[in-house]
Formats: sequence, C-alpha cells, structure tokens
Amino acid sequence: MNHTIKIFCDFDGTITQKDLGDEIFKVFGKFEPYHSMLINKEINIRQYWRLIVPTLADTEESEIEKLALETPLDAYFIKFTEMCNKYKYDIYVVSDGFSSYINPILSFYDIPAKKVFSNSINFDGDSPKPDFYGASESCNCMSSSCKRNVILNNTDDDEIRVFIGDGYSDFCAAEHCDVIFAKKNLAKYCSENRIPFYNFKTFFDILKIFDNLHSGKVKFRKRRQAELKSMSAFETE
Ligand SMILES: [Zn+2]
Repeated sequence: MNHTIKIFCDFDGTITQKDLGDEIFKVFGKFEPYHSMLINKEINIRQYWRLIVPTLADTEESEIEKLALETPLDAYFIKFTEMCNKYKYDIYVVSDGFSSYINPILSFYDIPAKKVFSNSINFDGDSPKPDFYGASESCNCMSSSCKRNVILNNTDDDEIRVFIGDGYSDFCAAEHCDVIFAKKNLAKYCSENRIPFYNFKTFFDILKIFDNLHSGKVKFRKRRQAELKSMSAFETE
C-alpha cells in the first residue's frame, strides 16, 4: 500500500542557513543576557521570547524584512520544493520563529507551502510582543508553540509524516513523525534517544534519499514508536 507523504519542515537554520530568530535580536535588539538565560535553563522558551521581543522597540518591520531577504537559503531547498511539487508532497512550514521574516522569504522565493505555522510579533502598543500560534497545556516541550499538534491535526493516521529540522524546538515534533531528517542538536537528540533518523547537512542529502525512495532502494514506513506517542498525545489533549 502506498501511503501519502506529508513534509513538515522547520524554518530557521533548516530552510535558511542562518537562524534569523537569533539574528534579528543580534542586529536590531538585545540578544544577551536573555539567550544565555535560556541556554542555562533559567527561563523557558516562552519567557525568553516575552523578554527578548520587546528589545525590538526601535525596529521597523520593514528592517526585519530587508535583513530576511539578504539571508541565504539552503542551496538545495528550492530544488527540494520542486521535487515535492512533482510528486505532490505537501510541505508544511512549522516554525517557532516569527512571521515577520518568514513570510517575506516564502513569498520572495515563491515557496509553495501548503500551510505555514509561525509565531508573530505584535508591533502595536508600547513595545512589541510575541503572539504564539500554538498552545499546548499538555506538552512541556522546548518549543513555545508546540509543533506536535500541527503535525497531528494535519495528517491522517495512515499518512507518512516526514520531519526536517535542526534544533530544540523540533525535538517533540520529530518524536511524532515517521521519517526524520536531522542535523545539529536534533541529530544529537535523536541519537541519544535512539530515534532513527537520516543525518543531513543540506537538502542535497535529503534529495538523495528521496531519489532512493522513488527508485525503490529505500522505503518510508510508519514508525511504531511515533504512532504510540501520537496516540498518547491525543489522549492527554
Ligand atoms: Zn511539544
């Protein structure tokens, strides 16, 4: 039986080479001491965004957009979207970053995402504030908007969930997916937790695996551990 394949893709450091969620604060706001506080676990990710986003008080959204469009994408990402288009794989962008830089990039490159999930910055009022798209009382993961529910709510049980990511905000999401492409901290997390994954440096590596899928050299299968996780997620919601 052929399962429908759906692609869930992180944005910062995955689609883009740089993490714009760090970069905009380094350039326009104040990155420290907040980032160290987050890394040292003195604050959680939501507290972090609530502290750091107001440091953009003197920033125009158009300045963020300009910086975003100067940031290079993964050199093979556009090729990857063309492959997805050819085989009719829907791409969902799931980010714990902000629409202020994500939307301009997606529209500039005409990236055919089925849906885009990202936080937003509310520039009305005295100081900018973050708005989180996802709330999950039952999940205590390292993403201010848990990506898990997006994945579960946009797939059927018999569909193959593919996840592509690199960082802390992807841990919980990857655990609920069948086929995982990981680099950096996400790769380390998968290794440490014995979650099978494909290591990648760029989308070139991911395209190679899809080539192998299409020529029958590899198969994408439902992952039992991900199914069990997804079932218990539904029970606790
Ligand atoms: Zn979560």
